[in-house]
Amino acid sequence: MCEDDLMTDTEQQLLQVRQSMARAAETANRDGADITLIAVSKTFGPEEIRPVINAGQRVFGENRVQESQGKWPELKRDHPDIELHLIGPLQSNKTKDAIALFDVIHTIDRKKIADSISAEMARQNKIPRLFIQINTGEEPQKAGVAPGDADAFIGYCRKDLGMAIEGLMCIPPADQHPGPHFALLANIAERNGLSGLSMGMSADYEDAIMLGATHVRVGSAIFGTRG
Ligand SMILES: *Cc1c(COP(=O)(O)O)cnc(C)c1O
Repeated sequence: MCEDDLMTDTEQQLLQVRQSMARAAETANRDGADITLIAVSKTFGPEEIRPVINAGQRVFGENRVQESQGKWPELKRDHPDIELHLIGPLQSNKTKDAIALFDVIHTIDRKKIADSISAEMARQNKIPRLFIQINTGEEPQKAGVAPGDADAFIGYCRKDLGMAIEGLMCIPPADQHPGPHFALLANIAERNGLSGLSMGMSADYEDAIMLGATHVRVGSAIFGTRG
């Protein structure tokens, strides 16, 4: 019997994403170990997430704090080595809960949120890893710091708030080729001496890896279409 026969659809999809990531890394002449797959489990419940955990995946992403509170405390209790990433916009009244639950926050996008994350980190004595979201397409409806304000905002977080910033995150406009947006994000990161690049989703994570992504956020390619 072929090993594939024993795998669920989710396990096969996870394996395929991992293989595509490895190929893209090889093409880009990069070490695959430098690229983290964040399995984006938003809208899916514990019964759909557990098979992915059982297949060996330990890094997960969610975009809503409240939804995450309903499922992750128990999953994390069962698997303490899970690393949970917040990849959706953060409201300041949710900062406390976000700092309590998440290991990594990708979406620092304005002064008010940076200030409240900083205060909450001190209060809870927790140090999550932090990314700043850049609105590379300058879309009015999208969160993120405008590219022209990025250097000053990164400086504010680092110098005024004393935060260790790991990198930058972006979500390119849906109707444009993502390449130039990934390249812009990489450029802003480079000139600020930041090594982390959270970019690339199901449709474009291979392009993102070619352009330097250190974290790809992949949902539907692993879990299937969201309801
Ligand atoms: C939902 C989401 C993803 C994953 O999207 P897919 O197209 O399903 O891979 C990645 N990043 C963010 C910020 C998201 O909200």
